[in-house]
Amino acid sequence: QNPIDEATTETVLNTVAEHEITAPVADYISLEQYRSDGGYQTLKKVIEGDINPESIIKKMEDSGLRGLGGAGFPAGRKWRIVKGFKGPRLMAVNIDEGEPGTFKDRHYLEQDPHRFLEGMLIAALTVGCDEIYVYLRDEYAGCREILTKEIANLQNNPPSTVYRLPPIHLRRGAGAYICGEESAMVESIEGKRGMPRLRPPFLAEVGLFGRPTLEHNMESVYWVRDIVEKGPDWFSSHGRNGRKGLRSFSVSGRVNKPGVHLAPAGITVRELIDEYCGGMLDGHEFYGYFPGGASGGILPASMGDIPLDFDTLNPHGCFIGSAAVIIFSNQDSARKLALNAMKFFEDESCGQCTPCRVGTAKAADLMMQDNWDTDLLEELSSVMVDASICGLGQAAPNPLRCVIKYFPDELTSTRG
Ligand code: SF4
Repeated sequence: QNPIDEATTETVLNTVAEHEITAPVADYISLEQYRSDGGYQTLKKVIEGDINPESIIKKMEDSGLRGLGGAGFPAGRKWRIVKGFKGPRLMAVNIDEGEPGTFKDRHYLEQDPHRFLEGMLIAALTVGCDEIYVYLRDEYAGCREILTKEIANLQNNPPSTVYRLPPIHLRRGAGAYICGEESAMVESIEGKRGMPRLRPPFLAEVGLFGRPTLEHNMESVYWVRDIVEKGPDWFSSHGRNGRKGLRSFSVSGRVNKPGVHLAPAGITVRELIDEYCGGMLDGHEFYGYFPGGASGGILPASMGDIPLDFDTLNPHGCFIGSAAVIIFSNQDSARKLALNAMKFFEDESCGQCTPCRVGTAKAADLMMQDNWDTDLLEELSSVMVDASICGLGQAAPNPLRCVIKYFPDELTSTRG
């Protein structure tokens, strides 16, 4: 079902969030089915020492897999860095998935939870993490049910009895967007208010409970089993327009087939709409898109041929983040969508630093004026980007800056 069907432009982002909350628990691949398809054989070899940890790290490095929560840090390099710090080490898996428009982690968890659990355990054992904390978005009640049941099932039926599996702690978030930021998530797991930490030190060295911590987005470890078994080339041989790998695009908006579409990295939004999304909805003409959720900026249809991948959008003031692509049409207003995003950031700012706490509120006020004071908004944006502690405040001005740059006609009209 299209999450924004019938929605007005003001409610596009919020409607996507509601869509996530109300989804029922799906049928998924059980432990027995997963095992019958060869599942947990690789983990068994890792536990029993039949695969060298160094060869797994090498495969991860060669695959080019990057952190799929949005930051894009090379996964293999992260494993090597954390392993280089003295133990005991911990692992933290981020399934907070709060970026508006993003629902890929839920999609995979509801289909194949053991592929995720096996990848997570391979990562933990390869890097030498003694315990694992999984931080789950609390609105994902269905995923919580699946994970609670399947983690217990796996612990009671381990793939090998040579060594005990590391303890896996499932922690519930409490609905704060900022807890998707890795250091705020770590604070939240520790039982404190979820506020981002100043860095350095980085989590790889001083993370959860002060220990070296391997922090990963759920989808990043979901691909580990396939990369280890099929080889790094399996992942890196995909790609388009000069880019390498696969991306799980969470597509929503005015298209015929919204949903999670696994597509080559570097695909353009036009190709995504035509080849994966069944085209635009009847009566809607492609007008613009968010390439990376609410924080990744907004681009017009005339810039719909840019390869979607890490780094490719940065020169245009945007980023792909967690690959949440929101398509809007000639019946929508980029200006109103940018205001909606800014109000979201104002609500979700943790309030720790002034440029973000005051800046998001001030920007939203200015954006509600009929005529935008673009000089003042640009000045405010620069301060937020330069002086905010974390990515929320630094990225919050992206949509508004894009509207000023790419949708100037909307600043003097009441489109939408
Ligand atoms: Fe908190 Fe915003 Fe500062 Fe991040 S930028 S630490 S969310 S106030």
